[in-house]
Amino acid sequence: MTRIPKWIQRKEANKLEYIRWMEMFLMLPEGGVRAAFPNTHSCRVRFTAVRWPDGIECVRCGGRDVAFLEKWTLYQCRKCRKQFSITAGSVAHRSRLDLRMWFIAAEEIISAHANRNEDVRLHGHSMAKRYGISYPAAHRLKTALIKDLSQQPAGGLMGASVCVQERPLSRDPNRSPQE
Ligand SMILES: [Zn+2]
Repeated sequence: MTRIPKWIQRKEANKLEYIRWMEMFLMLPEGGVRAAFPNTHSCRVRFTAVRWPDGIECVRCGGRDVAFLEKWTLYQCRKCRKQFSITAGSVAHRSRLDLRMWFIAAEEIISAHANRNEDVRLHGHSMAKRYGISYPAAHRLKTALIKDLSQQPAGGLMGASVCVQERPLSRDPNRSPQE
């Protein structure tokens, strides 16, 4: 068996990673995240549906009997009394940033990688300026999102939330299902 040189392996890995970003890019909403999710509420609805497709579950006991505390936008489990937000235990756990900012930044990170200008566009300082947040907050946002979006196959919760369209390959009618 011939050994594949390290530099080729690296090149292949980079190529696969690029294809993955590109796939996610093609799954972003037409017209962009800002138009598809015009306010925090629409982001909350989408995030909740992605996280709990069968209905909200208590993050502590898994119970399904939960009440919505509108005043605090929190849920409370009727069984174990646990109060939790929809982002509890997720990538945006305890974040003070608006959920919509997470969505917008996720789109930006995906687009930057797909367009291969991430080094320019995803500088902590420029993100901080664009979002009107501090540099540490921008850095945390970016690091957490890249980690989430790097989960297979199409990102973690944030990735799945902003990637609203079908996977590009499954749309190709000439491709057999085995491929
Ligand atoms: Zn519970």
